[in-house]
Amino acid sequence: MAIEVIKEDITKLKVDAIVNAANKSLLGGGGVDGAIHRAAGPELKEACKKMNGAETGEAKLTEGFDLPADYVIHTVGPVYRDGEHGEPEKLKACYANSLKVANEHKLQSVAFPAISTGIYGYPLDKAAKIAIETVKEELERNTSVTKVVFVAFDDKTKQILENQL
Ligand code: ADP
Repeated sequence: MAIEVIKEDITKLKVDAIVNAANKSLLGGGGVDGAIHRAAGPELKEACKKMNGAETGEAKLTEGFDLPADYVIHTVGPVYRDGEHGEPEKLKACYANSLKVANEHKLQSVAFPAISTGIYGYPLDKAAKIAIETVKEELERNTSVTKVVFVAFDDKTKQILENQL
């Protein structure tokens, strides 16, 4: 199994699927979600409209349209309050369910942003621990996924993910 950390704009990656840190509406928003919708083009929003949103921790797949990636897996991270409102379990579910969806579609390479650590306020060190642990667990199962890329958008996120790895 191969896990790597890179600093990059996730919308530039040519992998089987990039994961979107979406909101429950799945209709686009700020941060990485906005960047993915802009790069994928308007067809992505049309595809997302048909999915009737998602609950926190769920993951749903669409095509990638104008993106270099073939697919987008949309998952909804938890909004961080104090860590005592199920946030760790929900964040774990985002990573695990995204990889389950990738496996159902026989995908091999998947790239994740640092889900919930932007607008949703999840502390980076705690989120990175959950992200790396969960992906390792899932890759130890029988899955089509052979490569996971953690995509940091800034140096601090890259450093924390690398240390955790
Ligand atoms: P959330 O609402 O889940 O917190 P955000 O999009 O606000 O989602 O932030 C999640 C992470 O994605 C942050 O680390 C942010 O810096 C990063 N990010 C924003 N734009 C991009 C991008 N184009 N590629 C990769 N990561 C990005």
